[in-house]
Amino acid sequence: MNAKLDSGVTTRPVTRQTFDEVLVPTYAPAAMVPVRAAGLDVWDQEGKRYLDFTSGIAVSSLGHCNPVLVDALTKQVNTLWHLGNGYTNEPVLRLGLALTEATFADRAFFCNSGAEANEAALKLARKYAHTKFGPHKSRIVSCLSSFHGRTLFTVSVGGQPKYTEGFEPLPQELSHIPYNDIEAARAAITDDVAAVIVEPIQGEGGVIPGNPDYLKALREICDQTGAVLVFDEVQSGVGRTGSFFAYQQMNVTPDILTSAKALGNGYPIGAMLTTDEIGQHFNVGSHGTTYGGNPLAATVGLNVVETINQPAFLARVKEASAKIFANLEKLAGDYPEVFGKARGMGLLIGLPMAEAYKGRSKDYTKTCEKLGLMLLIAGPDVVRLAPALIVSDEQIAEADRLMREAVEAFIAA
Ligand SMILES: *Cc1c(COP(=O)(O)O)cnc(C)c1O
Repeated sequence: MNAKLDSGVTTRPVTRQTFDEVLVPTYAPAAMVPVRAAGLDVWDQEGKRYLDFTSGIAVSSLGHCNPVLVDALTKQVNTLWHLGNGYTNEPVLRLGLALTEATFADRAFFCNSGAEANEAALKLARKYAHTKFGPHKSRIVSCLSSFHGRTLFTVSVGGQPKYTEGFEPLPQELSHIPYNDIEAARAAITDDVAAVIVEPIQGEGGVIPGNPDYLKALREICDQTGAVLVFDEVQSGVGRTGSFFAYQQMNVTPDILTSAKALGNGYPIGAMLTTDEIGQHFNVGSHGTTYGGNPLAATVGLNVVETINQPAFLARVKEASAKIFANLEKLAGDYPEVFGKARGMGLLIGLPMAEAYKGRSKDYTKTCEKLGLMLLIAGPDVVRLAPALIVSDEQIAEADRLMREAVEAFIAA
C-alpha cells in the first residue's frame, strides 16, 4: 500500500483517454474531465469554467462543495465513519426522525442508492403481500418509460426494454402499463398485484409529470385491491419539484416512498420510507446492507433535509422555476422549429426538441457544453434542466444567454 503511494500512483497524470483504457465502457463521458467545483461552477482539467445546470443528475441540489455540508461531513469524518449493523449511530437516528417527521412515513430503511431503495421497496411489498394475502399476490405493476434503477429486479421493473436486453432470465410476475392511463391501470391492477410502483414525475423517461387524477386513481385502485402503492421519488424528491417530496403537492399519499440522489447531495445514500403496518414486515434479518445508514452519509442527509425542508427555501425553488419556464417559453417562441413546449415541475424541467430536430437533444447539449453550460438530456428528444436548487437569478440569466448562443451555433452547424 505505502509502496504504491510512494510510487506516485495517486498523483500521476490521467486523461479522458484513461477512461477508455481501464474502465468498463458502460458510459460515454464528455471529453472534458471536471476536477473542481463550487456552487454551480465546475472547472475542467484545462481550467475552463462551466455553469452546471445538471447537479450531477438532480443530485447536488445545494451546490457543489456546499460549505454547510463540507463542515458537517468534515466534523463527522473526524468523529466516526462506520459501524456494522450490530450498532446504530446518532446521525442515522436523527435522519430517521427528520424524514418521518417530514413525511407520511413512520419508518425508514437506509441504503446507498436509488436502485437499492427501490429494491428494498419491492422486496418489502412482496413480503407484506405474501404474509397478509398469500404467495399468489406477487405481481408488480410499473409504467412504460419508467426508470427505477439498474439492479436486475429494478431494471426489469423499469419500463425501458433496451435496458434488460441480454440480461435474461428476468424476475417474474412483472407487468408494464402506459403512464397516465387510468383505464390501463384499472385493467392491470388485479387481485394478484402486490405493488404498483410509479414516479410522480417521470425523469429519465422524458420529464413527464404524472397527472394528479392518474395518481389519485392509482391510490384508489391500490386501496381496492390491497396492492401497495410505491412512489419512486429518487429524482423528484428532496425539494426538486418545489415541495419536499412531489407527492405533497399532488395530494396523493403512497404506502412506500423511495429517495436517493439529492438526499446526499453527492454523498451516496438511499432511503425507503413506509408506514408502521408495512415496515414491520422487514423483521430482523430479512433485509440489509453494509453501508446503509452509515454515519457519514446520514450526517450529510440530515443537513440536506434541514436546509431544504424549509418553506422559504421551497418557495425560492418555485420562483426560480417560474423564471426558467418563462425563459424557455420565449426561447421556444423564438425557435419554434427547434424546441417544443417546456414541461416539468419545480427545477426538473424538460425541453422537447421540435419535429425537425427529433433525436438531436444530445447534439444540442454538446453545443451548450462547448460554450460553458452543462445540461442533461432525458432521452434523444428532450433536453433536461436540473440546476442546483440554490440557482441564482444571475445564473438563470447566464444559462438563458448560453442556451440562445448555442441554438444559433446548433442551427448553423
Ligand atoms: C436515478 C434514479 C433511480 C436509480 O438511482 P441510482 O442511485 O442510480 O441507483 C431510480 N429511480 C429514479 C426515478 C431515478 O431517477
